[in-house]
Amino acid sequence: MTSYGSPDGVVHARTAADVAGAVDRIRDSGTSLTVRSGGHSVARHSAADGGPLLDLGGLDDVRVLDSATGLVRLGAGATWGRVADRLAPHGLAISSGDTRSVGVGGLALGGGIGWMVRRYGLTIDAVVGAEIVTADGRVRTVDADDDPDLFWALRGGGGNVGVVTSLDVVAAPVSTVVRGTISYDLSDPAALLRGWRDHLLSSDERLSSIVMLIPETPLGPAHVLVEWCFAEPDRVAAERAASRLRTLGPVVADEVGVVPYADVLDDRVMPEGMQVAMRNAFVPSLTDACLDDTLALRSGAPTVLSIRGMGGAVDRVAPEATAFAHRAAEAMVVVARMAPPGAPTPSLDGPSDDWDAVARHGTGAYVGFLSQDDSASVAAAYPPATYARLAAVKRVYDPGNLFRRNHNVAPERPVVPTL
Ligand SMILES: Cc1cc2nc3c(=O)[nH]c(=O)nc-3n(C[C@H](O)[C@H](O)[C@H](O)COP(=O)(O)OP(=O)(O)OC[C@H]3O[C@@H](n4cnc5c(N)ncnc54)[C@H](O)[C@@H]3O)c2cc1C
Repeated sequence: MTSYGSPDGVVHARTAADVAGAVDRIRDSGTSLTVRSGGHSVARHSAADGGPLLDLGGLDDVRVLDSATGLVRLGAGATWGRVADRLAPHGLAISSGDTRSVGVGGLALGGGIGWMVRRYGLTIDAVVGAEIVTADGRVRTVDADDDPDLFWALRGGGGNVGVVTSLDVVAAPVSTVVRGTISYDLSDPAALLRGWRDHLLSSDERLSSIVMLIPETPLGPAHVLVEWCFAEPDRVAAERAASRLRTLGPVVADEVGVVPYADVLDDRVMPEGMQVAMRNAFVPSLTDACLDDTLALRSGAPTVLSIRGMGGAVDRVAPEATAFAHRAAEAMVVVARMAPPGAPTPSLDGPSDDWDAVARHGTGAYVGFLSQDDSASVAAAYPPATYARLAAVKRVYDPGNLFRRNHNVAPERPVVPTL
């Protein structure tokens, strides 16, 4: 979680009216507004550098509206750990992310890639409505029928079109799942990644998994892990679905258990002030060349490399249905370098780094795992048609670009040079 940074003032909102009041006060001042739900932005967008900060942590109500259909209302400032705890007694769960303290607002507006992503899709795929405060200070209730453009844009467009105060979500009928972690000897990472890719191509979509290559740190030696989650409590079916994962390389540890969904979420938080350089790419096909180009990044500075399997339910939603368009991605490749406070700033652009070689295999990036926020990186994150549609919605609802402290989609039309 990031600190508040150095805001000129902090507004602790408890209601949508508080948010609307803050938006009205700040809109004409020319300053940018920092919006914060769970405070986990890897681009430090929720840490202010001057200007006002709007903290939504008080909007943390989690309410079951209809336990028969699974309809729930989530305050944007709730954490996903709180959501999981509150829904568990009702036999409900939402595929969100992997960490308890990440906020509903930031994760859901980017898309939400969680432990049941292949079975239930992205978090936004379960969102059926939202309450949002737009730059004109209006509190709007939006869904597929009311303000459908806004509803489209907030599902994948980050915080570009307003401050979301709550989301209506249809939770899945899930209480317990099967969770596994397999550690391998790191002697042949290329073979291991190819094996994991082959497993993914034929795997049961109830199983979602992540392969992670962790470099040597003061806490331990380099190692490789596959973490997996089977979105049902059927251990026999889960073991069958995971069996190929045990053949990827020499296994050094293998843990598996049937657990409540809330226990799948991780308690770990990034230490305060940790510097992060993070890039990612959605790739339609994890070819050998893509894997080799990704592995080559490990020859520079120590690098955490992870690949998340996509497909399944994510791919059953049309690319134009939400502002998250990377529906056909087979996987998301993520690389990160970290450094403690005061150490030289980590970078993925060193002399021996060739991130572009990896990005060329992909169709764009996930804003939730993108530490850069320059306009070229944001434009490259979205397919051109999605970016253009987001900019058009932005021109209607936030023409002054009040909401710009984010992966910003500028409202301006691109300047076409004249001869
Ligand atoms: C440890 C860690 C684990 C993660 N794991 C996952 C994962 O498993 N899956 C995944 O999909 N992502 C994951 N992420 C990425 C995460 O989704 C993004 O970092 C997300 O932005 C964090 O949301 P937040 O509410 O905690 O962050 P914040 O820092 O509060 O918000 C980030 C930005 O989003 C915008 N925003 C936030 N809330 C609102 C709102 N209510 N209205 C309008 N704009 C808003 C603002 O621009 C804000 O600055 C992880 C990040 C971290 C640090």
